Amino acid sequence: MKLVASAAEMRAVPRSPHFRNGGVSFWYRQAGLPARRPALPGSADYDVCIVGGGYTGLWTAYYLKKARPDLRIAVLEREFAGFGASGRNGGWLSAEFAGSRERYAESHGKGAMIALQRAMMASVDEVIEVAREEGIEADIVKGGMRLVATNPAQKARLLEEVGHLQEWGYWPEDIYLLEHDHEPRLRVDGTVAAAYSPHAARIQPAKLALGLAAAAERLGVEVFEDTAVTEIRPRDGATAPAAVTEHGTVSAEHVIRATEGFTASLNGQRRQWLPMNSSMIVTEPLSPETWKHIGWEGREVLGDAAHAYVYAQRTADDRIAIGGRGVPYRFGSGHDDNGATQPQAIAELWRALARLFPAASEAPIAHAWSGVLGVPRDWCPTVRLDHADGLGWAGGYVGSGVTTSNLAGRTLRDLLLRRETELTRLPWVGRRVRGWEPEPLRWVGTQVIYGLYRTADRREADRVSHTSTLARMAGRIAGR
Ligand SMILES: Cc1cc2nc3c(=O)[nH]c(=O)nc-3n(C[C@H](O)[C@H](O)[C@H](O)COP(=O)(O)OP(=O)(O)OC[C@H]3O[C@@H](n4cnc5c(N)ncnc54)[C@H](O)[C@@H]3O)c2cc1C
Repeated sequence: MKLVASAAEMRAVPRSPHFRNGGVSFWYRQAGLPARRPALPGSADYDVCIVGGGYTGLWTAYYLKKARPDLRIAVLEREFAGFGASGRNGGWLSAEFAGSRERYAESHGKGAMIALQRAMMASVDEVIEVAREEGIEADIVKGGMRLVATNPAQKARLLEEVGHLQEWGYWPEDIYLLEHDHEPRLRVDGTVAAAYSPHAARIQPAKLALGLAAAAERLGVEVFEDTAVTEIRPRDGATAPAAVTEHGTVSAEHVIRATEGFTASLNGQRRQWLPMNSSMIVTEPLSPETWKHIGWEGREVLGDAAHAYVYAQRTADDRIAIGGRGVPYRFGSGHDDNGATQPQAIAELWRALARLFPAASEAPIAHAWSGVLGVPRDWCPTVRLDHADGLGWAGGYVGSGVTTSNLAGRTLRDLLLRRETELTRLPWVGRRVRGWEPEPLRWVGTQVIYGLYRTADRREADRVSHTSTLARMAGRIAGR
């Protein structure tokens, strides 16, 4: 990726007079930023203390309190519940699970990895069901997921991926290639192959986060906002595990870390998960004529098969929201808290939008924003609880955490209650992963990896009909 977008590229991006950059995300511009809950009033004791009020923390609190109403549970959130990736994402509630299937199978066998994939599919329905039960209006439509290839190399990769998934828990009806469609319901320009899976829904992410926080609170979970945890301490002899904040220290039988892309800012966690940026843009609502041309009546979530891939949805109010990696990593694990997005990332996403949907290329862009996701050194998510030191965590979902965090929440509930269940036997439970390299290696490494991915995408678009060797090289450097 070029570091500076040319003036011509920047001018080409049509902007709405109401264009905004940052402001957490467009989803909050739509739903309204929430009034802040009070901060932690002072040092206190709880049974369980959860650090981070995103989907992971909130699902864990929700399920735990539901199972054991007598437990006293505190969620400590640095900003407001849903401030992180949970309130900024692409709204793919999908069965996609990040990480190498082979790696999980190495430790637990292939059957266990297949069970994990099936649990992900069930989790899509679980989220939809809880949202219905709790009256959470999150614009949910279960229209499935469509993946498109727009050049021969992408097509080869898509075919390979469908075959691979069918070996790892997707049965033929769970993901399949779409036959050449004479009248496709979703017209994506340049499509040479497409695959479909019914296991996905479109959601409005911030509405889910806000609704979930309210549902947990109704059960009696205490959510404290504007409360940054600086350090998480393990049990030390007779001293209980604790979360230290500027407002006081919360001691608890168990402390759960649910800070995903922000984890590096906690004392002692700098090299744990790499904070990777992901950026999005959204158009103003498109005209009925444009929609007649594009179709997309099924509201399926849409992705492409590029190495630096994009993900998109048709919003409830008829816009296109599209996201991608943008500037994936900043030196020293930096990121813009408020979501302000660099001009070149906006220009790049707009180019992808215009390429896939020429009919929407004149549509003004209303908003751009970014968020951070957590990437473990081996790119494999984990959930873990150690009763001895009293600490647990879940995360490292890379770019697929909307559904995975629900599975994590139910799994942490079972682990906290010392229940041995199908969930606690899944192969992502209890894994330990080594940390990332120190700076500047971390920064140089990620620049090289994404530089190679983008060059590979350009070569594949131009001439190469198979996956570029550059992309394979990037995968090896990344340790995927
Ligand atoms: C732009 C973007 C698009 C994405 N699109 C998708 C998608 O379409 N589908 C999908 O499956 N996944 C997607 N993801 C990933 C997904 O959103 C995340 O994996 C998921 O939301 C992670 O939830 P979480 O609760 O673990 O983390 P977060 O939502 O990031 O929550 C962590 C919380 O911890 C708080 N916190 C951090 N540090 C501290 C501290 N020291 N003390 C107290 N609180 C703290 C933060 O303020 C934050 O609220 C996307 C991510 C981004 C950024």
